[in-house]
Amino acid sequence: MSLKRILVTGGAGFLGSHLCERLVEQGHDVVCIDNFFTSQKSNLDHLLNRKNFELIRHDVTHPMWLEVDEIYNLACPAAPGHYQYNPIKTMKTSVMGAINVLGMAKRCRAKVLQASTSEVYGDPDVHPQPESYRGNVNPIGPRACYDEGKRAAETLFFDYYRSNRVNIRVVRIFNTYGPRMHPFDGRVVSNFIRQALAGEEITLFGDGGQSRSFCYVDDLIEAMIRMMNGPNEFVGPVNIGNPHEFTVRQLAEMVVELTGSTSRIVYKPLPADDPRQRQPDISLAKANLGWEPKVTLRDGLGRTIEYFRSIRMQDFRAPTPNF
Ligand code: NAD
Ligand code: UDP
Repeated sequence: MSLKRILVTGGAGFLGSHLCERLVEQGHDVVCIDNFFTSQKSNLDHLLNRKNFELIRHDVTHPMWLEVDEIYNLACPAAPGHYQYNPIKTMKTSVMGAINVLGMAKRCRAKVLQASTSEVYGDPDVHPQPESYRGNVNPIGPRACYDEGKRAAETLFFDYYRSNRVNIRVVRIFNTYGPRMHPFDGRVVSNFIRQALAGEEITLFGDGGQSRSFCYVDDLIEAMIRMMNGPNEFVGPVNIGNPHEFTVRQLAEMVVELTGSTSRIVYKPLPADDPRQRQPDISLAKANLGWEPKVTLRDGLGRTIEYFRSIRMQDFRAPTPNF
């Protein structure tokens, strides 16, 4: 394998820190850019003294000038409470961030991968969701800053591909969880585990009958790297996620069981535009990347619970007051 200089935007975040770790282990020269809006430097503590790792504090809405071979574009708040805190900034991050990395990729002839999302399907009326499904997004709702921002970023990626022959990849990531999720990001897995370990009430939104399909982070990172290194003809968009679907209530019950918690489950109002169901059709990823997830929800939750037991909650600040 040839060694490359690789930029990871949003590299201090949950997924980004795992990706940086894998790329550093492979021997690549890794540059991480992050403004630490939803992450903390401690996610990268173990990489800071590595000779092939560099960390730059920068906001991707401003231009960047680097010489790189590959770019993974992950910078963007991903949890609803984070991206809804400053929705205009969220849209700017997706759109201007995409323009800036695409411009850089065009100049340096770098390959560039966009971390898109299952949210481009909105509240889907096709189930499971194949890549050909065009989605059901409310363009003016509270989730639109993220969903439409990511849709616009996909548009930019494909226009740079068609107009400027930039070598792109687009992956649509479905709910992913694991160690280094921010304990106060309000996402369902981190919330339930933190609440269960603290003996607090477990907050189930709506009747808990809405579904999600949860992918363990290691499986996800493997797919992203395979996509970047796959054939140039296969640019995506490609779904990556775990097709095993659970209701949010089933998730709450499994977290209670695995933590041995005495927490009660309580019901809270369902947030606006909360998708009723979500399950990736991963046939394309299987056929083109020879990939499918390996880690079961039970095993992955076990590893995530272990991580949450190992951290000190007081070392983490809540990035936004939305929780
Ligand atoms: P995260 O919030 O942990 O990571 C995002 C990172 O981007 C953070 O380190 C944050 O500080 C940084 N960031 C935000 N705005 C920035 C800006 N303007 N300039 C520079 N850095 C900025 O979230 P994550 O779960 O690791 O998500 C990473 C990417 O994957 C995001 O683009 C997200 O949309 C996408 N994604 C994640 C999931 C998931 O389930 N985890 C699902 C779909 C898509
Ligand atoms: N959810 C919940 N309790 C929580 C946090 C989230 O019931 O404390 C629900 C939320 O309403 C949604 C699902 O869990 O139906 C997943 O939410 P998350 O914010 O993790 O991600 P989403 O897939 O909605 O972007």
